[in-house]
Amino acid sequence: MSFVADLEAVLGVSLITDPDITASYSKDQAPFAPNSPAAAVLLARSTEEISMALAFCSQRGIPVVTRGAGSGLSGGANADSNSLVISLEKMNEIIEIDPANQLARVQAGVINLDLDTAVKEFGMAYLPDPASRDWSTLGGNVATNAGGMCCVKYGVTSHHVRAMTVVLASGEVIEVGKATKKFVTTLDLMHLFIGSEGTLGIVTEITLNIVPRPKSPATLIATFPSITQAAAASTALLKYRPSMLEIIDQTTLKAVEGWHPLGFEVAGSILLMQLDENFELGDAAIETCESHGMIDGMFSTEASDAADLIRVRKLAYPALERLGATLLDDVALPVTKIAEFVGKVEELAAEHNLIIGIFGHAGDGNMHPTIVHDHGDADGAQRAKQAFGEIVAIAQALGGTASGEHGIGSIKRGFVSDEVSHTVVEIQRGIKKLLDPVGILNPGKKLP
Ligand SMILES: Cc1cc2nc3c(=O)[nH]c(=O)nc-3n(C[C@H](O)[C@H](O)[C@H](O)COP(=O)(O)OP(=O)(O)OC[C@H]3O[C@@H](n4cnc5c(N)ncnc54)[C@H](O)[C@@H]3O)c2cc1C
Repeated sequence: MSFVADLEAVLGVSLITDPDITASYSKDQAPFAPNSPAAAVLLARSTEEISMALAFCSQRGIPVVTRGAGSGLSGGANADSNSLVISLEKMNEIIEIDPANQLARVQAGVINLDLDTAVKEFGMAYLPDPASRDWSTLGGNVATNAGGMCCVKYGVTSHHVRAMTVVLASGEVIEVGKATKKFVTTLDLMHLFIGSEGTLGIVTEITLNIVPRPKSPATLIATFPSITQAAAASTALLKYRPSMLEIIDQTTLKAVEGWHPLGFEVAGSILLMQLDENFELGDAAIETCESHGMIDGMFSTEASDAADLIRVRKLAYPALERLGATLLDDVALPVTKIAEFVGKVEELAAEHNLIIGIFGHAGDGNMHPTIVHDHGDADGAQRAKQAFGEIVAIAQALGGTASGEHGIGSIKRGFVSDEVSHTVVEIQRGIKKLLDPVGILNPGKKLP
């Protein structure tokens, strides 16, 4: 605690030190990532304040954990008892909306959905749509390079960022990227910070793309006898440029049906697709599904049908959560490997005597196997943790990667070296050393 009074004197503000409160700022939503209440929490109000805090922490060697909303699923925002948590929640101002230049400038603590809601009145949209968009921050989305359902068509967060203000560990403030639509004047430093999970600098302001709001989508839903057929159909459906393409396996479907019967009992797997243009392609899309063995399916251009049709996807995770404690994994694969992946995870579930439901973003191969074990069952929890790692290994063996969107945080650091070369690891360490020589920024996260 020794640094608290000194830092308060430097900043001229009080820090939070009540352990009941610091505890709630010291962990995200990952169930088994280590954490303990931070020594103190700073509710930052400005870039200048963060700059002063980081300069102080660098001089004293105090670890700093940056926090958006704490919705992360990898332990990335978890603290320990020596650290200072810097929360961006109070830096939530939408600074500028410029429809003519198709951009918005925000403080990093703005909630994703708040920006989309604000630009709506100009007929514009902020597209990246993590399922947590109604509470995760844009700074957190940038730091994890968050994805979402529409990313199959529009790309992940990194495709929507033009420029950022970043505070380096030394306290120096830099601007990376440019508000222009194009920028090749420097090395692409901005993208180095995107997805860096708070290890290279603290993002305080972001200039983002906004685009004319897409039409309300038309929705296709199709059931298939097997995941293999559904996965093959999903790959074929990519030619229609879907704005959403999701898959649900039979285990997940059974969990949904057992809770809210929607009439899908016979299906082995379900595909959901949305188009936000070219609605005339619906019939062809249904034919594509038929050619892959579709049992039943429909395509509706009625905006009012969309919510009902995609309900099964919205219920997927909560339905699995009802069955016990859950561990939500996140891997990305070549889209052509989805069926093989699901088959291997099914074998793994049988081997470990666990329920593992799989759903995910079929269009970009980003799968979310969700491992279920009984609450309070220590042995089940241990088997689930082991399966969590084995799922990553299965994905990697199929040419996939340890994380598609939730990030590495502390829980997946051990898997990084399994898929990248020693040189790539060393380059990352060199960059970290250059930008954060004392190593104060989110130590023990992201880098192997
Ligand atoms: C129910 C649920 C659904 C989810 N769905 C999705 C989904 O569809 N897609 C997806 O990608 N993720 C999803 N997530 C994961 C999570 O919401 C995202 O990772 C999100 O981007 C985290 O934002 P946050 O503001 O909560 O950041 P936090 O959890 O607070 O932090 C995440 C990481 O970013 C760092 N960080 C935060 N703010 C900054 C900043 N300003 N500067 C530098 N570093 C920073 C933190 O140190 C940490 O390493 C989901 C989570 C939940 C609980």
